[in-house]
Amino acid sequence: MGLIYSKKIIKGSFFTSRTDKEVYFVKDALIETDDNGEITKIINPADQDYQRTLEDAKENKQLVETRDDEYVLPGFIDLHVHAPQWPQAGLALDQPLNEWLEQYTFPLEAKYQDLEFARKSYRHLTRNLVKNGTTTALYFGTIHEDANLILAEECQHVGQRAFIGQVVMDNPEQTPKYYRDSSTKEALNKTIDFIKQIRTLYQDSDLIQPVVTPRFVPNCTDEALEGLGQIAKKFDVLVQSHCSESDWEHGYAIERFGKTDTEVLKQYGLLNEKSVMAHGTLLTEANMDTFKDEKAAIAHCPISNAYFGNAVLPTRKLLERKIKVGIGTDISGGFSSSMYRNIQQALISSRMLEDGVDAQKPAAERGVAGARISAKQAFYMATIGGAEALHIRAGQIKVGFKADLQIVRDELSAISSNASQDVFERLMYQTNADNISKVFVSGKLVDHK
Ligand SMILES: [Zn+2]
Repeated sequence: MGLIYSKKIIKGSFFTSRTDKEVYFVKDALIETDDNGEITKIINPADQDYQRTLEDAKENKQLVETRDDEYVLPGFIDLHVHAPQWPQAGLALDQPLNEWLEQYTFPLEAKYQDLEFARKSYRHLTRNLVKNGTTTALYFGTIHEDANLILAEECQHVGQRAFIGQVVMDNPEQTPKYYRDSSTKEALNKTIDFIKQIRTLYQDSDLIQPVVTPRFVPNCTDEALEGLGQIAKKFDVLVQSHCSESDWEHGYAIERFGKTDTEVLKQYGLLNEKSVMAHGTLLTEANMDTFKDEKAAIAHCPISNAYFGNAVLPTRKLLERKIKVGIGTDISGGFSSSMYRNIQQALISSRMLEDGVDAQKPAAERGVAGARISAKQAFYMATIGGAEALHIRAGQIKVGFKADLQIVRDELSAISSNASQDVFERLMYQTNADNISKVFVSGKLVDHK
């Protein structure tokens, strides 16, 4: 089932991050992609071979042209998505986390044993994410292995790069009877089998990877956490879970283990450079140091955190300390599947953290000084931050990187400033699925308007 990618030249002006402080802009570049879906050359108008390359591409019908009001960006990397929760996006967000899980989320996830329903829901979600410019996603599936394999099929079918987790939740004290792994042994066996199946089925594809996925500490027994740490090491796969997401969840680990989530995950071999942990809103200073030392990544889910996180993740501090951090939509703790919407919320939340929110306090005591991030930093997290967390050569328009790209239209171009800095900020704030004209994954067109 290997995909054959064809050589292309995309002619367009592009923005790409290089560091969290700068966004690089090139006007009217030629971005060359090869049969492996990688960017092999970037040619600027001043370069000697520009005209000849452009003419050759036209003649060979390999040219993808963009309009003057269109720009090329790296595709976004959604670092935390619960694929099965898509049908309830935006529902019951007024509930506390544990009640939201028990009354809404677990009953919905249990429905995925119905494979027809799984197919329908996963097809809808993967199409939606790609239309929104999300070229890679790190997914939680459910406890149903067959449904998770269907999610993989739908990602492959739509052409999205996907990391998919067979969810483990075996702790009878924290999971409902109707939605729980029947035993620890079975949960671990299903994880191993899922890893093997994905690796066999998609050995010729560069799109689909399995991920070890303890749902979160409260849902797992000690034996499951220990077993999953060993499986992750043995099969050398990524690990994803949640970490210090809310007061309740952060407090749960302390009560059960006498230590924080971060320390528990580390103890079981689940926190290292292959790990992506969602939320982290309640991380202590010492926990942050552990993330840095272990090179583990945090998936910042700013919309979801506003509902369930009980605090604002200090993203600026994490970036300054060189802790890996990307952005996740956290469907459906977050209501929006758009990474743009989450970039915007990451910016807004950081401003509210800096200023504080309680007007009854003096201004100087209200917030956390120096907490705000820039649009460049949010864009960096949505691209390079995610790519570093997942160890993929994507998230940048750069030679040797995957041609995972989105072409977006600037709706205000005719009536506003077209200075590159202004265009960049406008794109971050104004883009939605309707003005994303084309999306490429590994150089293959996966969506167009
Ligand atoms: Zn989550």
